[in-house]
Amino acid sequence: MKLLFCPDCGDVVQLRSAIRSCSCKAVEGRYVNDQLVEVTGERAEVLGMDSYSIQAGLTLVDVSEKRGPTIVAWMFPHGAEHVRRLGRKR
Ligand SMILES: [Zn+2]
Repeated sequence: MKLLFCPDCGDVVQLRSAIRSCSCKAVEGRYVNDQLVEVTGERAEVLGMDSYSIQAGLTLVDVSEKRGPTIVAWMFPHGAEHVRRLGRKR
């Protein structure tokens, strides 16, 4: 799962096939196909969230614990092949 992060407003938005943007409108993005996303906005960052990690975490959540299970996420490098950067926002 790929997420769009805006360093200006701090929003994290799940990318989908329809264009989605952060609340301050500085960045936006969408899935082009199952693998490729395109983002607009010089400061747009794309995060990856490991779906298996989320599923495993769901089985470990315990309301008696102060902190829930750790899940795996990463930031895509700007030259990543599955991220197309369109530059400035239109
Ligand atoms: Zn923003």
